[in-house]
Parts: sequence; C-alpha cells; structure tokens
Amino acid sequence: MRWVKKEQDDIKSYIFNALDNNKNYVKEKVLGIPASYLDSKVFSQDNAILKDAPFLSVMVNNPNHIGCHTLDASESFFSGTQAIEREVISFTANDILKGEGDFDGYIASGGTEANIQAIWIYRNYFIQRYNARHDEICILCSEDSHYSMDKAANLLNVRIYKAAVDANTRALSAVDVELTVETALDEGVKYFIVVANMMTTMFGSVDDYNVYTDTLIARNCKFKLHVDAAYGGFYYPFSNPDNELNFANEHVTSITLDAHKMAQAPYGTGIFLIRKGFMGYATTKEASYVKGDDSTLIGSRSGANAVAVWMILSKYGPHEWFEKIVVLQNRTSWLCKQLDEQAIDYYRNPFSNIIAIKGAFISPNVARRYGLVPDNHNNPDWYKVVVMEHVSIEKVEPLIQELGELSLQD
Ligand SMILES: *Cc1c(COP(=O)(O)O)cnc(C)c1O
Repeated sequence: MRWVKKEQDDIKSYIFNALDNNKNYVKEKVLGIPASYLDSKVFSQDNAILKDAPFLSVMVNNPNHIGCHTLDASESFFSGTQAIEREVISFTANDILKGEGDFDGYIASGGTEANIQAIWIYRNYFIQRYNARHDEICILCSEDSHYSMDKAANLLNVRIYKAAVDANTRALSAVDVELTVETALDEGVKYFIVVANMMTTMFGSVDDYNVYTDTLIARNCKFKLHVDAAYGGFYYPFSNPDNELNFANEHVTSITLDAHKMAQAPYGTGIFLIRKGFMGYATTKEASYVKGDDSTLIGSRSGANAVAVWMILSKYGPHEWFEKIVVLQNRTSWLCKQLDEQAIDYYRNPFSNIIAIKGAFISPNVARRYGLVPDNHNNPDWYKVVVMEHVSIEKVEPLIQELGELSLQD
C-alpha cells in the first residue's frame, strides 16, 4: 500500500471499515479480554456525535494494539485497525524513508520508547550472536543526542560514549569520534550501537553518519546503526530529499520517528521502524497470553494512535506534505534573514526549522515572554525558536524587534 492523498469521505469510510473488522464489545461476544469500550458514563457513545468522527469513534471503541503487527501473528480481536498500523509502517518506511520491500515496526509511545526498543534489540543481538558481555557493548552517539540514550544505557546496562560536536556548527568532530572509539576499545568495548541524529532536539543538526561508520569500519569493529529521527523524520526527508539517513543506505538498520512532533498527532505516537529479521531479538516468549507473543517494549497501547497518524498522512498525501514543509522552510529562512540584518548570532541547519539563538543576544525576560526554550535551564548558552505551524511571521515579528533593541543597547 503506497502513501497517497485521500478525500475526507474516503478517509472516513476507510477508518469505519477498519473498525468494523475489529471485534465490537457491544455487538459481539468478547468475554475474555480485560478491557472494554471507554466508560459510557463519562465518554459519549452517542452515534449522532460519533458518526462523522472516525478518530473519536476509534477512541471510544478502544482497540488494543498490543504486540507487533508486522510479524506473522497478532491478536485477532483488533485486526481491522492493526492493518491500519501496518500501513503507517509502510508509508513511513517505504514512501518517506526509501525502504524497499517489507519492514517491521510499530507505533510506540514516543521517540524515547522507539530509541530504547532499537538499543534493546541490538544489545540482545550482540549478546545472542557474539556471546557479548554487557560491558563489551556501548551506545555511541553525540553530545547533542537526546537524553533517551542515557535512559537506554541505564536501563539496558550498557555503556554510553558521546562524541563532541563543534560549538558553532554542531557538526560531529571526526577527531573526537576517533578518540572516543579508541577510548571505548581501550576500556574493553567490542560492540557499538551507533545512534545518528536526523535533526537534534535542541539544534536541528544532522549527523554525518560516515564519521561514525568510517571510524568503526577502519578498526574492524562490529556495529549497528540506528537513526534518531524523532524530531526530523517528518521534516528532513522532505526538506533535503537527497540525504542518506534512510533505508536505501545499507548501514541503517532502524529508524525512530515521532508523529506527535512535526506531524501534529496526539501524544503517544512514536514510530519504530526496523529491517526484517531483528524484532525477534526483543520478543518476550513469556507473553504467552498475547497471540504472536510481544516483541515491543510497551505492552498494551491504543489503536487510536495508529489511526491518527494514518488519517493525517492520508489527508495530505506526499505532495501536500512536501508543500507544508516548504512553507515552514521559507518562514524559517525569513526569520534567519531578519536575524542576519540585526547581526544576531544563531545556528540553523539549512534544511531545518529550528533556530538556536546565542544566549548573549537574549535576555531571560524576553525568552520567558516569547516561550523560547533554553539548551540548559541552569546556565543557558542558546535559546531555540521552533518554526511550527502556529509560529507565524506575525508572532515572530515583535520578537525580532525586541532582539534588535536589546542588541542596540550593548
Ligand atoms: C523528542 C525527541 C526524542 C524523544 O521523544 P519523546 O517522544 O519525547 O519520547 C528523541 N530524540 C529526539 C531527537 C527528539 O527530538
């Protein structure tokens, strides 16, 4: 199934049809599941309200998407909406991230879970394939990587090494990657779980993955490469279509995207994508009451999340999505031009909608009033503006004016 734009009526009937293919707690015999539709005293089940609201209808019906639905077997109760989830995996892995053929994956609770899932899989892969000890396995990422890498290292009991980036360009330092790998090897590490960033949370910077792979290949090190595109996955492939952080690249085994950031889906919609043959390293065989076992970290989760992403992507289709990103790119460039004219220092990746302004040009008072986010709440070096849909030129203009007045005072 390819990602295409659909008319509203088709979206509606597609989702209601999927719901019909789920078991219905009201109309059918579902006597063995520890769950039901949403509490009817609190959440309206009134058909007059729900008949034109496919997402709300799925919420009220409350399907459970427990497990991984791209594998052979899944719970049969909710097979209708689970098929929708499979389509989201295909839209993202094939149409957005250039994969050929079938991929595994699932809608996770967010980028944090999807990143931990990847690292969990590779840790177990190194243990099972190579008999690795925990202290022989490490996460290799950058100092700008998301803190979910630290959570993963802590939870999964593996080491973590972070390479430095250039203070101004936020580019990985090739020299420091080499030093970091040498240090890890000296400390007994043999297996590397590399995480490359497709737009970091603070800067929108994108890693040149070659810096990692060249260094590791030159030393004959075993590694797996995961791409953290939690923020960038619905942006960067459109703003920079020739980039290599995707499944056309043989080094990339798995990718995280968040639909609840750039794609404006409800929270609880991270996306985990991985090549076939790896989910099994995270299969919990003891999940015997779940048909097909459970190869995910989370356990029970709402099927409405998958439906939300499917509806958003189908409403736009790939061409309109591209146009949406072009608009944000233009707005971001406009803002950068204003900053240039005022000689205010900032960092922006040319393909990104994040502008990190040097702290020296902003007072804490201005940052607070405009809701800018610092890199560090104790001692900020940078404040970021994220040019999302609601960040219009009209909202940004007064900020620029105030920044100009501030810099004149010096
Ligand atoms: C937001 C983000 C995460 C974590 O995602 P959550 O959805 O908050 O769990 C991970 N990596 C990057 C680069 C992010 O921007």
